[in-house]
Amino acid sequence: MARYTGPVCRLCRRDGTKLFLKGAKCFSEKCPVEKRNFPPGQHGQSKKVKKVVGYGLQLREKQKAKRIYFTLETQFRAYYQKASNRTGVTGELLLQQLETRLDNVAYRLGFALSRRQSRQIVRHGHVTVNGRKVNIPSYQVKVGDEIAIREGSKALVVLEEAKNFAAGQSSVQWLDINRDNLSGKVIALPKREDVNLPVNEQLIVELYSK
Ligand code: SF4
Repeated sequence: MARYTGPVCRLCRRDGTKLFLKGAKCFSEKCPVEKRNFPPGQHGQSKKVKKVVGYGLQLREKQKAKRIYFTLETQFRAYYQKASNRTGVTGELLLQQLETRLDNVAYRLGFALSRRQSRQIVRHGHVTVNGRKVNIPSYQVKVGDEIAIREGSKALVVLEEAKNFAAGQSSVQWLDINRDNLSGKVIALPKREDVNLPVNEQLIVELYSK
């Protein structure tokens, strides 16, 4: 299935949930979910909100997680499979893999205003892991890894904007962030409580384990 490239706020409005896809706008009064919390489209306001249950609910949770982290089905399923083969709580292990993607880590470190933008920053080769350029957004970081913006990329305007935005965000327990130097180190693997996103991972596990 192709990646969705339309207006991202529609995705949140369809779900009736903030998916935090647009950076600063998501934390402001301009967020359409705050302003107009009804489905998009001409008849959105008059549409009855259907209560989603069972399979529909499980499917919706999966879509939500995929949209937040910009992953496609094949990759998402691979994360699930890896998580279910490991010892521990499958849902948490699934979220852990999503959180430790390089594009997400770069976003958490304050290199971008949104995960979408962070993905571009990684793709365009502005990010290093342990001093080496890595331009693969899905690259999995591990404890001890040092992630930074390449020396030659530090003057990018977008980084300055992101830095100001990140300064107002709460800290990330599993990352040692050096905002001034545009770098950071992974000091632990993220736990469930570190993932402050509206996703019920248990429903996703139920969906895949059918
Ligand atoms: Fe748009 Fe962000 Fe609000 Fe979602 S949370 S509707 S992406 S502004």
